[in-house]
Amino acid sequence: MTSESTHFDYICIGGGSGGIASANRASRYGKKAAIIEAKAIGGTCVNVGCVPKKTMWYGAQVAEAINSYAPDYGFDVTVNSFSWAKLVESRSAYIDRIHQSYDRVLGNNDVTVIKGFAKFVDDKTIDVDGKLFTAEHITIAVGGRPVKPDIPGADLGIDSDGFFDLKEQPKRVVVVGAGYIAVELAGVMHSLGSETHLLVRKEKPLRNFDDVLSDTLVEIMAEEGPTLHTNSAVKSLEKQDDGSILVTLNSDETLHADAVVWAIGREPSNDKIQLENTSVELDARGYIKVDEYQNTTAQGIYAVGDNIGKVDLTPVAVKAGRLLSERLFNNKPEAKMDYDLIPTVVFSHPPIGTIGLNEKEAEETYGKDNVKVYNSSFAAMYTAVTQHRQATKMKLITVGSDEKVVGLHGIGYAMDEILQGFGVAIKMGATKADFDACVAIHPTSGEEFVTM
Ligand code: FAD
Ligand code: NDP
Repeated sequence: MTSESTHFDYICIGGGSGGIASANRASRYGKKAAIIEAKAIGGTCVNVGCVPKKTMWYGAQVAEAINSYAPDYGFDVTVNSFSWAKLVESRSAYIDRIHQSYDRVLGNNDVTVIKGFAKFVDDKTIDVDGKLFTAEHITIAVGGRPVKPDIPGADLGIDSDGFFDLKEQPKRVVVVGAGYIAVELAGVMHSLGSETHLLVRKEKPLRNFDDVLSDTLVEIMAEEGPTLHTNSAVKSLEKQDDGSILVTLNSDETLHADAVVWAIGREPSNDKIQLENTSVELDARGYIKVDEYQNTTAQGIYAVGDNIGKVDLTPVAVKAGRLLSERLFNNKPEAKMDYDLIPTVVFSHPPIGTIGLNEKEAEETYGKDNVKVYNSSFAAMYTAVTQHRQATKMKLITVGSDEKVVGLHGIGYAMDEILQGFGVAIKMGATKADFDACVAIHPTSGEEFVTM
């Protein structure tokens, strides 16, 4: 420690989901904690992730209710206009309120927020714009950033950060990618009325999810949009005289767009914090190597969240950060994050909810003969009452003679809200018989999981 440095018990680099949760928890145990944040408090989730995305998704739900469902429920609705700017304004105001709430809670907990970009000087010392800070314990929670491909004109396209910066609604959008972000943003844009093309380089989006989810999503996209282009890689982007972007595919087919959104994955932000001055090691992909207790290879330095390359979800970063503080500061030496059986939702149209193994993984893990699968297929009542029927598909994957549920998957109306409770049951080791023993709630979609 140098005489000019400020000392803390605990410093979290990154004021996103993981850093905030961990620092707040440390302060609960009387530790002098600080967060170093270069941009807006809240990180990816609050500013350019979950929160603005879900706001846009809710906007899309309102559009779908008006356009697809209202008439058969007896409403003769005339929409005079849709204001993208108003939706963005409401979104920003909501995010401002979250910022204020974070500031209040961090202030009440006496967590110091240091604004600026952190770089390591050594294992115990961090430089923020020329000021030095030291701590016994340091957690790296710097998250990740979107990537763009290395093709001509790539910078004419925006990434998900750029999407949340759009001041006007593009009339024609090309979204490139096949994961969560591509599917979610393409769905939002389509439902809000943009002509939307989703380009996947392989045979379908969400290839790593259970087939019932990805195949049903593809079927629903074929009926309702957006326009899905499979086996379609982008060769180049070129600016046109009218300001639009010419998208040329490897097949030489072309599309004209007012915005191109790259959603082809993210990379960790570990490369800018001068880890070379520490004994923290990275893996081949640039993620921080951690053990099951979030310990890095350097004594007293830990890492949680998107920069460790495990599961890139907000509640995972939050839980890992809190458990780390429980272990370090609340005398719980065995406290650690369990990365198994994490429920997750894709806010597609309709939403997808999934936890545990997909059918292929279950068969590979337990052998085909030990796996029994239950399926249900129906039109959710909300849609079935109208001309705009929409499929819901659900699947339970069980193993062994006691039919332990090792996977639960669903796509359809309200699946985003249905999953959480079933996640608890599966985490507790529920069997098919346990599911059957629970009386259904009627009429709902969720009841199908206990009546298969
Ligand atoms: P982040 O939240 O990214 O926080 C890292 C922080 O560190 C940032 O604020 C950054 O500015 C700061 N930082 C970086 N380097 C430095 C430095 N050197 N000095 C100071 N500060 C620094 N997850 C869900 O669970 N549900 C969703 O619906 C969901 N939707 C998403 C939608 C999109 C478009 C995206 C991109 C992500 C979404 N995610 C969602 C994922 C979720 O946002 C991340 O998993 C989560 O934010 C990771 O938290 P973190 O603490 O690891 O990092
Ligand atoms: P993902 O890693 O989920 O998906 C990106 C996909 O894009 C790849 O799987 C790949 O699919 C495809 N791809 C990769 N490179 C290219 C390329 N050059 N050209 C075309 N397609 C390509 O990344 P996302 O950015 O969508 O999301 C990052 C993470 O953030 C997610 O994994 C998730 O953990 C989290 N997140 C969570 C959300 C939620 O909880 N609802 C929402 C948004 C993000 P293929 O190989 O099939 O082509």
